Amino acid sequence: MTLDKVTGHLSKNLPEGQVYCHVCPHACKLAPGQVGACRARGNVDGAVVPLGYGRVTSIAVDPVEKKPLARWKPGHTVLSLGGYGCNLHCPWCQNHEISQVGEQGVPWREVLPEDIAALAERLHAEDPRMAGVAYTYNEPLVSWEFVRDCAELVHEAGLANVLVSAGCVNAQVIAAVAPLIDAANIDLKSFSPATYRTCAGDLATVQETIRMLAAAPACHLEVTTLVVPGVNDTREEMDELAGWLASVDPAITLHVTRFHPAYRMRDRGPTPVPLVYELADVARAHLAHVYTGNC
Ligand code: SF4
Repeated sequence: MTLDKVTGHLSKNLPEGQVYCHVCPHACKLAPGQVGACRARGNVDGAVVPLGYGRVTSIAVDPVEKKPLARWKPGHTVLSLGGYGCNLHCPWCQNHEISQVGEQGVPWREVLPEDIAALAERLHAEDPRMAGVAYTYNEPLVSWEFVRDCAELVHEAGLANVLVSAGCVNAQVIAAVAPLIDAANIDLKSFSPATYRTCAGDLATVQETIRMLAAAPACHLEVTTLVVPGVNDTREEMDELAGWLASVDPAITLHVTRFHPAYRMRDRGPTPVPLVYELADVARAHLAHVYTGNC
């Protein structure tokens, strides 16, 4: 029987050496040596290990507006880090080269949290508009221990932490990182549980993440919905989605963004720009801060 120190879940009644991962709703049952559906965690010697810990595939200084964050430190930049792996499998993923692969699928290099914090400090000294570190590009929370360890050191250096995530992880993981996050952008991909299931995700879990981050006193929260033609492009769905966000907190900022064909979804064109504007107007009936993107 194994106790997960974060979630408090017990892996019991499993054959010798097998263990559950409780980071996300997949609850992967992992045999020794097996890697989970996210490709970033696996069973090593009977324990779930974040295999993607410190394995950085992408690093860049980005404007905060690119995360996107519209109402948090405008004109600033963040040191943006990506690893590999994701627990969702969206056919339209723009970052599938790093999100839908494991350690063999993309070049990475090992970086320590100390190195990240030191680099951020140096960049901030060179340009005070460099505000901190963003955990982004792939799903950072499948390696949430690395986010936590970097974020603690980044805070000690007096800099900020930004989380860009699909938010489909269990509440205990959000509770562990939320106090360290100064700004977050969470994808709300749809307001349909069925659409979430096609991406291997879970709407209710993402809703709980949004509720928790909206309630986190020090966290500025923005949300992004990519409008995909034929998937989530009706006025009714946007009305429901924005109405729910407003019920959580009417101050939440929503980005309504335009799909472009990518990865396994090349059978349709980009979202018509007038439709993005129309759906943003639908959202504005509920929320004061609605932005369009990729138009
Ligand atoms: S985080 Fe990865 S290994 Fe853990 S349950 Fe989710 S998909 Fe499975």
